[in-house]
Amino acid sequence: MAQLEGDQKAQLKGCEARPASQRQVQPHHLVLLGAPGVGKGTQAELLSTRLDACHLSTGDIFRSLKTLSDSERTPTMTRALEYMRRGELVPDEIVLGLVAERGRNLLRSGGGFLLDGFPRTVAQAEALDTALARHNIQLEAVLEYELPIGKIVARLSGRRICPNCQAVYHIEAHPPKVSGICDICGAALYQREDDRPEAVHVRMEVYKKSTAPLIEFYRNEGLLVAISAEGTPEEVFERTILALQQRQDKVAKTMVER
Ligand code: AMP
Repeated sequence: MAQLEGDQKAQLKGCEARPASQRQVQPHHLVLLGAPGVGKGTQAELLSTRLDACHLSTGDIFRSLKTLSDSERTPTMTRALEYMRRGELVPDEIVLGLVAERGRNLLRSGGGFLLDGFPRTVAQAEALDTALARHNIQLEAVLEYELPIGKIVARLSGRRICPNCQAVYHIEAHPPKVSGICDICGAALYQREDDRPEAVHVRMEVYKKSTAPLIEFYRNEGLLVAISAEGTPEEVFERTILALQQRQDKVAKTMVER
C-alpha cells in the first residue's frame, strides 16, 4: 500500500496543519455509524469544518484505488476493489493495513478526528480501541445515524457524484440544474458502482450482519448517541450539534456529581 502514501493528505480532509494555539482546547474524537446512504459522509464534511477535525473516510480511500493504473495497483488493492464493487466489506486485514499508516499520523497529530465508515466490524472496533489506548485518546461519542430502510434505498439509488469535485446530487431531492452535469465544475455525473440496485441489496445485508453488532458494542461502552437522519443535511447537522452539546453537558454534570 506504500504507493498511496502521497495521497494521504487528499484522503484526510480538513486536516490542514494549524498552529497549536489555533487548535480547539479539547479536540473532538468521533465515530460516525449508520447504514450506507444515511448521509454519514455529508455530515462528516459539515462536522469537520465546524469542529475543526480531520475527516477520515475508508470508503474514499478505497475509491481512490480506482484512479491508480494497473501497474501501480498491487494484488491486494485489486482484491479490495473487487469486494467493494460487489458491495461486500473488504476483509479486516486489508482495511487495518490500509488505515494503520493514516491512523498513526492522525493520532499523533494531537488534533480532532471524525471516522466515517471505520470501524465497520467488531474486530475493527477492537483494533481501534487498542490504537486509541496506546495514544491515550478516548472517543467522545459514536454518532449513530438512523433512517428507515425504504428511504435509504431511495437515497442510494438516486445518488449521483461528480468525479471531478466530488459534489453529491440526488436525481429527485437535489438534482443538478442540467441533468447529469455538475453545477459546480460542469463534469458529467456518475453513479457509484456500489449504488446500483444489486450492490445496494448486498450492502444492506452486509450492514445488518457485520456493522449492526457495532451498535451494541458501543452502547456497552456508553458512547452511543442516536440521531435521526430524516430531513435535509442542514437539519441533520443541527440535530447532531445539539446532540453533542447535550452529551457534553451530561458528561460534565456526571463529573461534578462524582
Ligand atoms: P462507504 O463509502 O463508506 O459506503 O464504503 C464503500 C465501500 O468500501 C464499502 O461498501 C466496502 O466495500 C468498502 N469499505 C469502506 N470502509 C470499509 C471498512 N471499514 N471495512 C470494510 N470495507 C470497507
